[in-house]
Amino acid sequence: MKVKDNLAVIHEKIEKACLKAGRKTDEVNIVAVTKYVSIDRAKEALQAGLVHLGENRDDGLLRKYEALGEEPIWHFIGSLQTRKVKQIIHKAAYIHSLDRISLAKEINKRANKPVKCFVQVNVSGEASKHGLVPEEVEDFIQQLQAYPNIVVVGLMTMAPHIHDQDALRTYFRKLKELQLDIQQLGLDNAPCRELSMGMSNDYEIAVEEGATFVRLGTSLVGEG
Ligand SMILES: *Cc1c(COP(=O)(O)O)cnc(C)c1O
Repeated sequence: MKVKDNLAVIHEKIEKACLKAGRKTDEVNIVAVTKYVSIDRAKEALQAGLVHLGENRDDGLLRKYEALGEEPIWHFIGSLQTRKVKQIIHKAAYIHSLDRISLAKEINKRANKPVKCFVQVNVSGEASKHGLVPEEVEDFIQQLQAYPNIVVVGLMTMAPHIHDQDALRTYFRKLKELQLDIQQLGLDNAPCRELSMGMSNDYEIAVEEGATFVRLGTSLVGEG
């Protein structure tokens, strides 16, 4: 399948989800997750009109960045080792996986301007998932005030790989509630306007529940 054709289907589904939820489609950004696919396929995604590209490993991001340059808006979506920060910091416009102070410290040190970060939250409590438990998030974001190069643009979560739509909805709703709590704090370092949630198998529900960035690999560019 061509990326363009996949994208048409996805646009339609996002539109439907937005309609159902009373949202505007232009509030929803698509991050094309290119981690499984070739540079050519990533190029095809750009030609189809996508502007956000996501990679989950530093070497993957570097390889694609070398080939495609700084025109795509790069998103680092995977768990980030502290020692890898310096490799990606001037390339990624967004980091979706801020989950500990040691990482914030390193980003703050290596960056030469404020970096748009999502705080990753483990809403399902699955042991295999990265991220803070919801109860820790507020205090964590308060602590981030010490690091001027960190801007918390939003929260990110990965839902479990399940088909139970109601359960998925509960997780996304929880992230939305948490976002509202953070916004209430009125912190300069945490406008928290974005929600990075929704992958190929659950993005429609995520959009219904308020996602502003969906991260799509398989359904959009395929698995390579
Ligand atoms: C791989 C990945 C995605 C995309 O997953 P698909 O199910 O292929 O759409 C989204 N987010 C993260 C963090 C990923 O690692």
